[in-house]
Formats: sequence, structure tokens, C-alpha cells
Amino acid sequence: MTEPQTEIFNDALMRLESAAAHADVDGETLTRLRQPEQAIQVAVPVRMDDGSLQVFSGYRVRYNSSRGPTKGGLRYHPSVNLDEVKALAFWMTFKCAVVGIPYGGGKGGVSVNPKDLSRMELERLSRGFIAKIAPFIGPDTDIPAPDVYTNATIMGWMADEYSKIAGCQSPGVITGKPLSLGGSLGRDDATGRGAYYCIKELERRRGWEPSQIRVAVQGWGNAGQHVARLLHADGYKIVAASDSRGGVYKEEGFDVPSLIQFKNETRQLKGVYCKGSVCELIDHVQLSNAELLELDVDLLLPSAVENAITEENAGRIKAPCIVELANGPVTSAGDVILKDSGKLVVPDILANAGGVTVSYFEWVQNRAGFAWELDEVHSRLETIMRREFAAIYSLMDELSSDMRTAAYVHALKRLATAIEASGTRGWFQQSN
Ligand code: NAP
Repeated sequence: MTEPQTEIFNDALMRLESAAAHADVDGETLTRLRQPEQAIQVAVPVRMDDGSLQVFSGYRVRYNSSRGPTKGGLRYHPSVNLDEVKALAFWMTFKCAVVGIPYGGGKGGVSVNPKDLSRMELERLSRGFIAKIAPFIGPDTDIPAPDVYTNATIMGWMADEYSKIAGCQSPGVITGKPLSLGGSLGRDDATGRGAYYCIKELERRRGWEPSQIRVAVQGWGNAGQHVARLLHADGYKIVAASDSRGGVYKEEGFDVPSLIQFKNETRQLKGVYCKGSVCELIDHVQLSNAELLELDVDLLLPSAVENAITEENAGRIKAPCIVELANGPVTSAGDVILKDSGKLVVPDILANAGGVTVSYFEWVQNRAGFAWELDEVHSRLETIMRREFAAIYSLMDELSSDMRTAAYVHALKRLATAIEASGTRGWFQQSN
């Protein structure tokens, strides 16, 4: 994570420029996609438990709504800033187009370390933030969801606060809610499951025997835990996992359900080292996040934050396949090095699109007032993920490009169709 955050939006735009070289799209489309439609910054005053007042900075960006209402998560993290939120909203625009769901891209967040807040402070912050951005969001305009350090409980508070402001029940304003408040079955593991379907496609194409495939997972949160659980159930060996405080490694592979249970009970992986019962259950060695990324494994799953693989460490990455569950874990400069050394990167805008896809299903169910069975959610998600993976994989071969460029070209064509449908300079200059 060595590159400065302020470069992240420009870095994101470089993906657009490289896709444009392969796609026959009108220059006006590119002009429209080089900047967000709307961006706001808000100050959220919160009365703390000790009586003091703190003011937090919050952001929401609606990047592009050509294909539908904007959609994207809300992040609580100390490093959240407008530049990062713009980049995340840009990626959401392309992600929704990759999987063909009728949304544009948005994103938001608050610059805060939520681990420093009590539950009541967190509730006041969440309700206060939604009150500030309420005029900006809505079920037909912009629909938030969970992201790093936000969860279903927080989405529930936010949906409730929005409904109070709107004066009516409005569950479709936010997705990733608790089931009892209009959430969807299958949303909890959707991001990991979407990536899992991508990995199953790789398994088929590469003739993998799961028990021979060694996997390292950076980030042991919603995205990382669920993909690891599904792969482990199929016999894959999860040999390394990390969280913000460091990682653990076990040559023969972890018992993933125990590792998940331990993390969720103690909130840390590092504690695995000394907890009697779990120490007996989980035999391991300690390693840093940097070491985890450079392990000699078959599959690397960056599932934490952006800029994990940069120009500085890309040359030392040994895994031949990298599936990006995190948003933006590889910088453009890092990408070039990975490509030149023959690594296959399944890009974030495809690999982690399961989350927004099931969020879309939740929104559809909220609008219809009818809840789907879990099987229906899984089967619709699987169809979409496998279909778009196959289309992008073929396009990669056709373009002789990397998979990221193919995914951007695939999305850009869908975005261009929508943007150009309302007319371009060339169209308006034609005589009737
Ligand atoms: P999460 O549940 O909050 O988990 C984040 C995990 O990453 C935690 O284990 C955290 O460690 C770890 N982490 C944080 N900073 C780290 C660092 N510097 N180095 C190593 N690990 C670090 O978040 P999430 O929902 O899984 O999101 C993870 C990534 O997936 C993000 O890039 C997010 O944008 C992307 N994503 C998520 C979804 C979704 O539906 N949740 C959808 C699409 C994309 P601690 O536990 O120690 O804090």
C-alpha cells in the first residue's frame, strides 16, 4: 500500500484509456466517462458517549447513470477521501456494466475508524450521515450498500433513517439490509460466491484438481471468508489468510470454518497464536501481509483494500492466478508487471461483482414486494457470473489482451450503447 491515495482516481482512469484503444466507441462517450456526474462532501456532527462533539467527513459520488440509478457501497475507513470515492464509483460504473445489470456506478464513505466508536456512536454516525446525503440518494436515483467496515446492521439503521425522512417505508433505497428489514437471502456471501463461480470457471479451463490448489487470502472479512469457505468445501487448500494486523500460514491448509469462527469471535487472526483451544485446533506460522502476497501459491485472492500489489512488489508475486475480490488491489503499473510475467488476473470489476448483482436482486425483490428462495438467488447469480466470465475470457483471447482490458472493453461497449443511444455529434450532424 505504498502509492499515495490521491493518485487512485487517475490510476482508475488509465483503465478507461487502455480499453478505449480496443473498443470502437465515440469520443463523446469517453468524455462523459472521464468525470463523475455528481460528488458531495458532507460534515456529520456526532455527539460522543462522553458528551463531546466530533465532526466526521462523509462523501457520496454518483459517477455515471446512463445505464440506470447509481449503485455502490458505503465504506467506513480512516483513509476514505473524495479521490478514493471517485475511483470506487468509477469502478462500480464498469462493474455494473460488466454483469449487465441496469445500474450506473456510485460510492460513498466516511473518514472514520469505526473500531474506535461504541455501537451507539456508530448508530448516531450512520443515521447522521444518511440524513446529510438523503437528498442525493433514493430507490430510483442512487442506492448505497455495505462495503469495508459497514454491514447489514448499519444498512438497517440507514434504511430506517431514510424512511423517516422520506415519510414512507423505502426499503429499496439501500441493499445489504438484514433479512427482517427487507434484505435478500444470499446477499451475505454474494461477493465471495461470485468470485467462487469465476474460480470454478478457471478450474474447468485449466483442469485443476482442487486438492492440489494452494490458496492465499489477503483480508478475512466478508469477501475473503466466504470465498475461502466455498473453496475449502470443494477441497481447495487455504494455506494462508490475513487481516489488518497480519497473517497466518499452514502448509497443509487450514480448517476454514474454525478460522472463520475464531476471527469472528475474537475480531483478530493474530490471536490465533495464543488462544489455547484454537491453538490446538489451528497449527500455523505467523506472516505479514507483504509476505502473504509473495507466497508460492497457485491462487492469490487479494480481498482487503486497494493498492496491495504495486510496481514495487509485483515482480515478486509468484501466484500464476490472482482473483481480485477487493476493489483496486493491483495498480496500473503493477498490472503491467504481472502481465509481462504471464500472470492471469481476474479483475475486480468481474471477480467481485457478485455483491452488486445480489444487491440488484434485493432491490428487485423490494420493488416487487416478493422474496425469492435462496436457490433462486444462487442460480441467477451463477448464470450471470459464468456467462460474463466466459464472454470476457473469449474477448481476452480475441484481443490478445489481459483479462482486465477485456473486462473494461466488454463494459465500455455496454456503456457506449447506452450513452450513444441519446445521440452523438455525428448523429446530430446527419441530415434527415
Ligand atoms: P470487511 O468485511 O470490512 O473486511 C475487510 C478485511 O480486510 C478485514 O479482515 C480487515 O482486517 C482486512 N484489512 C483491512 N485493511 C487491511 C490491510 N491494510 N491489509 C490487510 N488486510 C486488511 O470488508 P469486505 O466487505 O470484505 O471488503 C473487502 C474488499 O472487498 C474491499 O475492497 C471491498 O470494496 C471489496 N468488495 C466488497 C463487497 C461486499 O459485498 N462486501 C463487494 C464488492 C467488493 P480486520 O478484520 O483486522 O479489520
